[in-house]
Parts: sequence; C-alpha cells; structure tokens
Amino acid sequence: MQTLRKKVLSKLATTPQLIDSKSLHQEFFAESVFNRSKIQKYLSHKTFVQMEQHIEKRTAISPLIADQIAAAMKAWAISKGATHYTHWFQALTGATAEKHESFYLLDDEGNTLEKFDGAQLVQQIPDYPNLTNNGERNTFEARGYSTWDPSSPAFLYGTTLCIPSTFISYDGIALDYKSPLLKSLQKLDQAATEVCRFFDKNIQKVTATLGWEQEFFLVDRGLAQTRPDLMLTGRTVFGHAPSKGQQFSDHYFGSIPSRVSHFFKELEYECKLLGIPVKTRHNEVAPSQYEIASVFEAANLAVDHNALLLDVMDKVAYKHNFVVVLHEKPFQYINGSGKHSNWSLRTNTGINLISPSKTPMGNLQFLVFFVNTIAAVLKHESLLRASSASAGNDLRLGLNEAPAALLSIFIGEHLTQVLEELEKVSKGKLSPQEKTDLKLNVIGKIPEILLDNTDSDRTSPFAFTGNKFEFRSVGSKDNSAKATTVLNAIVAEQLFQFREGVASLIESKDMKKDDAIFNVLREVIINIKDFLSTNANNQKKKSKIKTSTTMESKVAPEALSAFVSKSSISLFENLEIFSAAELEMRYQVDLQSYISKTQIESRTLGDMALNHVIPTAIQYQNTLIENVRGFKEVYGQSFKKHTQEQMALLEQISEHLAAINQGVVDMVDARKKANIKDDLKEKALLYAHHVVPYLNTIRSHCDALELIVDDALWPLAKYRELLFIR
Ligand code: ADP
Ligand code: MG
Repeated sequence: MQTLRKKVLSKLATTPQLIDSKSLHQEFFAESVFNRSKIQKYLSHKTFVQMEQHIEKRTAISPLIADQIAAAMKAWAISKGATHYTHWFQALTGATAEKHESFYLLDDEGNTLEKFDGAQLVQQIPDYPNLTNNGERNTFEARGYSTWDPSSPAFLYGTTLCIPSTFISYDGIALDYKSPLLKSLQKLDQAATEVCRFFDKNIQKVTATLGWEQEFFLVDRGLAQTRPDLMLTGRTVFGHAPSKGQQFSDHYFGSIPSRVSHFFKELEYECKLLGIPVKTRHNEVAPSQYEIASVFEAANLAVDHNALLLDVMDKVAYKHNFVVVLHEKPFQYINGSGKHSNWSLRTNTGINLISPSKTPMGNLQFLVFFVNTIAAVLKHESLLRASSASAGNDLRLGLNEAPAALLSIFIGEHLTQVLEELEKVSKGKLSPQEKTDLKLNVIGKIPEILLDNTDSDRTSPFAFTGNKFEFRSVGSKDNSAKATTVLNAIVAEQLFQFREGVASLIESKDMKKDDAIFNVLREVIINIKDFLSTNANNQKKKSKIKTSTTMESKVAPEALSAFVSKSSISLFENLEIFSAAELEMRYQVDLQSYISKTQIESRTLGDMALNHVIPTAIQYQNTLIENVRGFKEVYGQSFKKHTQEQMALLEQISEHLAAINQGVVDMVDARKKANIKDDLKEKALLYAHHVVPYLNTIRSHCDALELIVDDALWPLAKYRELLFIR
C-alpha cells in the first residue's frame, strides 16, 4: 500500500495550484481601511477636527461624536459589502480575537434594522471563556469588555468591519497586548518630549516607531498534512537532516520559486488593501524560509499590522496549498525564524532621535537618546530577555545565526570611542573652550565616523543599525507588542531620570543647560562604563557591550520570572503600565503557555514514535526477516554468509525500537511527575529540565530509523521534501 506521503509526492509534480493574483497598483493601498481621508468625507469638518483632537490628546470621545463616527463607519463598510462588525483585539493567547456581530437586527415585526451606533463602536462585551491561555486554572477573571482604540483605523476584512480594540477584564486587568502598549507609548512620549524640550521648545510629541521583519517557512500543505507534529505543534519533532541543508546559503536572496512568488504577490495585494505597508520580500538563509518586512510606522499601528499580517498570511497560504510555519524553530539543523523589531523615536517635527544629525547640538540630542536607551537595556536586561522568552525561542536562541540568548549590544567601534571621549569630560562646568572642543571634535564628527560603523555582527540580539535599534531576539510567532512595551517602558523610565538629573543641576547648581546635559550624560556613561572598558581592553575591539553572563543558559520558565522581579514591578507600577497583579497574571499565562506547548510536543512525539515510527520500522524488519528466510530456503545452512547485513540491520532496528519505547515510557513518567505540581513555575521547570531532554533523545533514535528504513514505507514527509519547494 502506498503511504499518504508517497501519494502527495506523486501529485506534487503534476498539480501545483497556482492562483493568479491581481496586479499590484498603488491605488489599492488601504482601500479596505477607514482611514483619515475616508472619515473626513463622511464627517462634518467640525466633528472631524474634534475627533482628531480627542485622538491626539487621548481623551474620551463623547457619545455624540462616537455616534457620528459609527454612522460613518457603518455607511462606508456596508457600501463595501460588509455584513458584520467586530471589535478586533490581540488576546494573550497570541492570536487575534474576533466576535462578529451582524449589522442587522430583526424587530418585533420581522423587519430588518441596522444596528450599530456609538455605543457599539466604543465598547463590546465578548464572552470568551479562556482568552488568557490560563488552562483550567481560572485564577483570573478572564471575562471583560473590549474598548475601541481610535488611534488605529478600522478596516474591512472579508465582509467584517474590524475595529481595533483593547480588552480589559471586569476587575480592570488588561487581558490583551494593546492596552499596556498604548500606556507605554504614552509614558515614553511624555518622557522623551520632556528631554527633547531641553533642545527644542517646539517639540510637542515623540512617537516610538516600529518596523518589523517577519521570518517564516512555507511548506506544501499536502506534505504538511502527513506530519501530525507540524499540524499540531507548528514544528517537526523529528526528521533526519537532509543531505543538503543551508551550507551554500544558496537560498538566501536567491530567486523566489514561482509557486512561492504567486503566494507573495497575493499576500502583498491583500496587505496593500489593508494598508499594511509591506516593502521587501526575500528568501532567508534556510531552505524554504522567507521574510516579509514592513516600512516602519507608529508602533501601535505597526503592531496591529503585524498581528493582522500573520492572519492574512495563513489565509493566503491556504489558497496556494501552502502552510505558513511561524514556529521559532520548526526544523532542527537549520535556522529558525525571528521577528526583528526595528525601533526608534520620532518627534512631531520629523526628527529621528536615534539618528545622528548634521549639527553638534543635534548630535548631542542623538547621544542623549542613544546612551539612555543603552543604559535602560543594560539595567533591565533580564526583563528584555524575558519579553522574548518562549518554548519556541528556547530552541532557536543561540543556535545557528540566531541571536544568542545572552543580551549584548552592538554599537560599533567608533561610537564606543566617542563615548569614551565624552566620559573624560571633567565634572562640573565646562570652559567655553572645552565645550567647543567637545561639540566640534567629538560630537560633531559622529556622522562621519558612523559611515563605517556597519553592524558586522548579525547575531547581536540588540544592535544599533545607524538610525534605529534592532531587537532581534523576538520570536517569529510572538506578538510584537510584548517586546515593544518593555522597550518603551524601560527607556521611558531612564529618560525621566535623565530629565530630572538635568533639571536639578540647572535648578540647584545654577548650571547652564548644556553643561548640565553633559554632566548627566557623563554620569550615565560612567554607569555603563564597565561594559565599555571590558570592551576597550578587548584586543579585537569588537565594540560589543557584553552584559552579565548569568543570562546565557536560562530556559524560558527561568527567564520569564524577570517579569515579576522587584525592579520590573517598580518600573511598571511607577509608570502605571502594569499593576503587580497584572504582571503576575502575565507571568502565569506565559508559564502555562510554556507548559502546554511542551506538553503537546511531548505527547505528539510520543504518539508519532509509537504509531508511526515503530510500526514502520517493524514492517521493515519483517521485510528483512522475509528476506533472510528466503535466503535460508535457497542456500540452506550457508544462508548466514549472505545475510550478515540484514541481520545487523535487524539488530540495529531492534536497539532503536527498544530505546524509543523506553524513552517514551520515561518521558510519560516525567510528565506525570510535572503534572501533579500546582505551582506553575515548578511545573514549567520540571518540563524544561526533565521532559524536554527526552524530546531530543527519542528524536535521535527516530531519526536514525528514518535513515535505515525503506523510503517507500516511511509515512512522514522528510526534511528534503518539506524544505525544497519547486
Ligand atoms: P536592513 O535592516 O535590512 O538594513 P532597513 O534599514 O531598510 O533594512 O530597515 C529594516 C527595517 O527597519 C524596516 O522594517 C524599516 O522600516 C525599519 N526602519 C527603518 N528606519 C526605522 C525607524 N526610524 N524606526 C523604526 N524602524 C525603522
Ligand atoms: Mg534586519
């Protein structure tokens, strides 16, 4: 009998499903988005201005205005074929959540009424039992209400009007990623604006900008369906390395296979309709790995767009007979996937604060933001690391080209020198000459020396890349708000401290503003000096600020505890982004997610080992036995001479079978021991240290069998088939 795998493979050659997509024209851009220009057409000028002011100042929109916006939204959406609306939010399960409500109601006489006004626009009460991913343990009230976020435009997705929203429990606990993100953005805006005003009184607002680069794998849907592991866990739990992997890097930036390019065309078309500014697409390092990147936007919008992209990708892939694999490490032996998050700060006057300038004062401003960001990252290194910790990322970080789990900041050799010069500034008031020297010789030259400051170390998890910081540890599947919220918060805290330092020098010591800035900046540099001097002594001058080495070997359940450390709680409580209870809840949710993922992987591996691998290996053993018996019939007692290899193979297979059986028994035992624990951290750690190791040992025996057993019998699509799309 032919295996499903062989059937799918035989069809692959003949029926690639190519769906022609519409050509891409700029005029499609944001056609499905109810953005400013469309709202403007529907509202009176006065209402429109009022709405803008509310959004700008983040004040509550009055019911009267909400009614008018709702009417406009509904009219626009229905004119485009919408039948339903939903509050669209990013739940802690990691998925986007929707509950579609019809625009139409039936009245008592059976007439249809359109029903959507300001009240429905502003708030919805979705009744989702378990959007916290908290398993059976309902420690936290998971029911709540979603609230419209007017700063992100509503959009039409299929025939549903989606209204970007936050989701908060009845007892006031944020149950989503957007609400803390918005709070962190507001604090960062406040802190950065105050610092900017030392330089330019005209600055009213600072926006964090985010540009993501999303990596993923594409796998043929039919082949993926032969793999319960890919379908259930999003990754392969075994599979022998293909004889050709990524050695030649020939996939990287190579030509995109035509099947894939059809997928990309349609994906880009859908993204454009939804106003997602996708810019580049290319092959990544691993075979069948791709990347799609956006043009940066205000962080809130960029986060929404990334969350939406993941959903769109899935739908488009379905049409093209692909499965999008978003797991951080779907295939052993080759690179995993991340979501590089490029982050910067932009003023309302259009200045990028993380970009060197043409003037010495502009450069001083740049240095202030640059140095403070680094100081914040160093101070809250564990927290930042925790923001990207997950079961999937544990398999990826530190492997191949992926950023090491250890956080290190790459700032380039020359910028390191500049910081060292600055540090020499004598304490107190500077003489006019000193100040001029500093400005012209040190700060004034920043753009020149940055020219050769290329980020050569692509594995640095947090890198300065000329005009932005790039955080590379974020997992491909993660919601980008998670790391961005942390980054915003730690930088906000640092900038508030900086502002206070400068202001108090000006006030108490009657110091000139420039002197005060130099002095506080110098203090910040001295605080991060240890990392700089280690680096200066480094002969190779790698210009990498290494942080403490204690981080390196932590598994996710250990790393995640940084969320509830004293310094994190005080950071988030002071900034009013999270209460201690909210942090605890998120920590528990992440632990539970780690446990569930690992448990499902372990069960899937156990099932597949017992139901797929062992029976297939025994089937092959039977063939060998049959063969040996045949030899005996033909050659009589001298059969042994002809069957030594067969006998050795039989032996080898039996050894692997025994090891697999024993491994599965032991693994189930380890799971049982973990499952009886009530404390989630304890349970997660047992999974990490006592269950996960079995995944590797059992796998190694299954992979060995894959090499031995007749290819025609093997039921699971092999790496070489999954990874090389034609
Ligand atoms: P690369 O990192 O491959 O050299 P780019 O410099 O073009 O490529 O940018 C990579 C990503 O960084 C893109 O998503 C881009 O939009 C984003 N990016 C560029 N400038 C900024 C910025 N000021 N703020 C946030 N993201 C940015
Ligand atoms: Mg990049």
